[in-house]
Amino acid sequence: MGIPVKPDIDVLASLLEQPDFSQIYALADKIRETHKGNQVQIRAILEFSNHCRRRCRYCGLNAENRRLTRFRMEPEEMIHAAHEAYRAGYRTIVLQSGEDPFYTPERLGEMIREIKKDPIAVTVSCGEMSANAYAHLRACGADRYLIKHETADDQLYASLHPCGTLENRVACLRELKQLGYETGSGFMIGLPGQSARTIAQDLLLLREIPCDMAGIGPFIPHPDTALKDLPAGSIETTKRAVALARILLPDCNLPATTSLGVLNPEEKNHIFSCGANVVMRKITPTRYKRLYEIYPANLGDTDILAQRQELEQQIRALGREPV
Ligand code: SAH
Repeated sequence: MGIPVKPDIDVLASLLEQPDFSQIYALADKIRETHKGNQVQIRAILEFSNHCRRRCRYCGLNAENRRLTRFRMEPEEMIHAAHEAYRAGYRTIVLQSGEDPFYTPERLGEMIREIKKDPIAVTVSCGEMSANAYAHLRACGADRYLIKHETADDQLYASLHPCGTLENRVACLRELKQLGYETGSGFMIGLPGQSARTIAQDLLLLREIPCDMAGIGPFIPHPDTALKDLPAGSIETTKRAVALARILLPDCNLPATTSLGVLNPEEKNHIFSCGANVVMRKITPTRYKRLYEIYPANLGDTDILAQRQELEQQIRALGREPV
C-alpha cells in the first residue's frame, strides 16, 4: 500500500475517497496488532451531570434545550459507582459531564481523590477549564483528560459553537499535554459542510498535538437541537477515519465510539479490525443515563457487572482479549 510516512492533507483527503479501502483497513489492523497487541481495553464511563452552560448546536445537553430534565449525581453516588466498576474489573473510569459550574475544580478534585483510593485510572471529560483547574485535577490524581476538538475547520467550528473557539479548544489540549495528562481528542463525522479535506485536517491535528487517545464517531441528529433534520454521519467514513488515525498515530488509543454498531462478529470489517482498540461502557445509573442524552440512543438498564461480562464475551468472540 503506497501511503507516505507523513501524508499531507491532499494525500489523506484522496485516501478517504478511495473506492476500495480494504488494503488500508488491513494496514491499520496490522499496525494496531504491532503497537497495541491483541487486547481491547474496556473503560467505564460515568455521566454525572447533564447541566451545561454551552450551546453546541449538535448536542442534546445544550443550555437552550428546555425539554431536558437536568440532573447531578451526588458525590457519594459517584464514588459508589466507581467502586462498583472497579470491583467488576474496570481499571479505567471516565468521568464525563456537561460544562457544569456546580462541579468546581475543588469538588471534582475531592471526588478524584476518593475514587483513586482504588487503583483505577481516572479520565476527566468535563470540557474547557482554566490551566489552573486542569493542574489542580492533575494534582488530585487525574490521569487522563478527554476533550474532543470536534472539527478542525475554523469556520465550521465557529458555526457550531456559539460559546467557544477552536483556538481555545486546541489551547486546552496543549495545556493538558504539558501537564502530563494522557490527552484525548477526537471529532465527529458527518457535520454539515464537512468534506474529505476537513476530515484530513482533523487527522493532522490529532498528529500535531499529538494525542494519546482519539474518539472519532458519527454525528447523530438530536430532535431538540438546531441540527435535528440533518442526516447522521456515515459509518463507513467513520471507520476510514479511524483506520487513518491508526496509521498516523500508531500508539494512539482509539475507541470504538458507542454510536457505531461495533460488536457484530458477523461483520468482517468491524471497527476493531479497522484500527480501534478501546471500548467504553456506560456505568451511569439507569435513572440518570436516560437523561444524559447527547444524541438519541436506546438504552437498557445499567448492570455494571453483567454488562462488563457480556462485553468481555463479545470481545472474545472476535478473537481478542478484553482487559
Ligand atoms: N462537555 C464535555 C463532554 C462533551 S460530550 C466536553 O465538552 O468535552 C462528549 C462528546 O459527545 C462530544 O465531545 C461530541 O463529540 C459528542 N457529541 C455531542 N453531540 C453529539 C451528536 N449529536 N452526535 C454525535 N456525537 C455527539
